Amino acid sequence: MNQQAVHEEDALAHLRQLIAQYVQALHPGDCGGQPIDFPVMESLLKTLRGKYHVVNGKLEVLNGDEKHLIGQRIKLRSVLGCRHPDPSGICAVCYGRLSYSVPRGTNIGHISAVSMGDKITSSVLSTKHLDSTSRVEKFILGKTEAKYLRYRDQDEQDLYLKRELKGKSKRIVVFRNEVQSLVDILMLSSLDDYPVGNASNLTMMQVIVDEGDEGQTSELLRVSLYNRKSSFSKELLEHIANVGWSHDAKDNVVIDITTFDVSKPFLSLPFKHVNMYEVMKRIQSFLHSGSDTETKRLGERGDDSNRGRKNFLKNYKDPVEALVVFATMLNEKVSINLVHCEVLVYAMMVRSATQRDYRLPIPGISGVFEKYNTLMMNRSLADAMAFEKQDRPLINPGSFIYTKRNDHPYDLVMLGGRLT
Ligand SMILES: [Zn+2]
Repeated sequence: MNQQAVHEEDALAHLRQLIAQYVQALHPGDCGGQPIDFPVMESLLKTLRGKYHVVNGKLEVLNGDEKHLIGQRIKLRSVLGCRHPDPSGICAVCYGRLSYSVPRGTNIGHISAVSMGDKITSSVLSTKHLDSTSRVEKFILGKTEAKYLRYRDQDEQDLYLKRELKGKSKRIVVFRNEVQSLVDILMLSSLDDYPVGNASNLTMMQVIVDEGDEGQTSELLRVSLYNRKSSFSKELLEHIANVGWSHDAKDNVVIDITTFDVSKPFLSLPFKHVNMYEVMKRIQSFLHSGSDTETKRLGERGDDSNRGRKNFLKNYKDPVEALVVFATMLNEKVSINLVHCEVLVYAMMVRSATQRDYRLPIPGISGVFEKYNTLMMNRSLADAMAFEKQDRPLINPGSFIYTKRNDHPYDLVMLGGRLT
């Protein structure tokens, strides 16, 4: 199993490398780039080591142990916001202190892809069949969410309903596709051994409270933490098994929670028990955004990330959010400096898919994500040739029509020329 996993990771690492290599040069100095608004999460703090952030207009370096920053947003200097005029190059400040360890003239995309591959491979190798170590990210309640939900104590992973809601007539509305297996609970006489995470995978939840003469209040709560979705607690599932549910006009699921005991857990953000192999598959499926070969192979098995809407890079409009999701996914099992995640995410962006401009984004925070296969076919002919279906670029008329491409180190092989 491990050997097969290592073999598969090797192949995937090669694909990551082909795309990452477009991010080429590290330029000395400071481009004065635009910082990104980065949420510091517990699991990502360590990965920020050596990155710069802007405090009162000044650059400060992060050590990765600034616990006081957890839960805050910082102005992070990032590959995504680099304004260096070379779109395939990054300045040393946006890159971070790791730039000191990059030998002159090295392709930084290559470094990021290799660092990632090495960490993943050694983690796969050191993993037994069922490795149950996991890290848990505390879900920080937003303003709206805190009106309805609370933690009972510091270390608690479960969310409770606010006491003020006790006795009030209230109901929740959730998307039907996020509670697809809810019917399971009606089949079981006891939920004691039932993995509660199976019944629901929630991103959003609407809470409607009847306020008597004042009518009713209704608010939408976000109950997921990036790629980690919350689920109904066992107690709530037992409640639902008793009171049942109904559907509204939009076919959402409506659950009356008037009689639910506010002293019992309401939602839980489960501990994740995943092994490296699953993490690896998830990362690849995310990066490839459902390119035709990969989804069929990787998306079939029903681990929770594949349930409901697929978690694909291409679905993200905001590059910063995409970066946070990608980094969180990777760092669930291994520790990889944020800059490597930034380089990979940046390499997956193009200027304009609608205008078929597949070059790396112009300096500053811009660009949109594209499917891996589309990128491989359209960025550089040489790279497309190094990819799997070598005949395709040659018979694809687009190869000769779209000329807005990036240079790639392999171009030399294709064109047989010298670097100009
Ligand atoms: Zn820069």
